[in-house]
Amino acid sequence: MKIEYEDSFVKISGVLGGEEYIRVARALLNSENATDEEIASATGLKINTVRKTLYDLFGKSLITGVRVRDLKRGWFVYRWRAQRDQVDGFIDNQKKKALERLTKRLDYEEAHEFYSCGKPECQKYTFEESIEIFFKCPDCGETLNLIDNSHLKEAFKWKVRQMLEEMKKT
Ligand SMILES: [Zn+2]
Repeated sequence: MKIEYEDSFVKISGVLGGEEYIRVARALLNSENATDEEIASATGLKINTVRKTLYDLFGKSLITGVRVRDLKRGWFVYRWRAQRDQVDGFIDNQKKKALERLTKRLDYEEAHEFYSCGKPECQKYTFEESIEIFFKCPDCGETLNLIDNSHLKEAFKWKVRQMLEEMKKT
């Protein structure tokens, strides 16, 4: 069996932007301090694609860029370098954000009861909203009934627990 090792910097780039990001990330690891043009020729990607990818990775602090003068041509170019030591922090941050979103969503589900006429094409309403429309679906006129969201809440809780446990390990 072939074990495929992939650098975590390359992996996270792939998660962010797919195949093009993977190619740029590998090129960055293969030649430190490469310019946009060097990366474009190493990857075979268009210069605009390479730049868009680099600026995105730069914005996420996963790479650094140093502005230097191109001695041959006289103008300034950026030399890019992967910040592999930032990858773990970036991943932790993403996980924390995802967990926060999930917890908020769970709080919302726990704080609100939802009412519906039962038709999938019609909307759901909170208790407060349902009072205002006299528990009558504005779309079809049917009576609104309490939706049992305990399955949804259980699913959210399970996911939160799973994420917390995974974060404890790292
Ligand atoms: Zn309805």
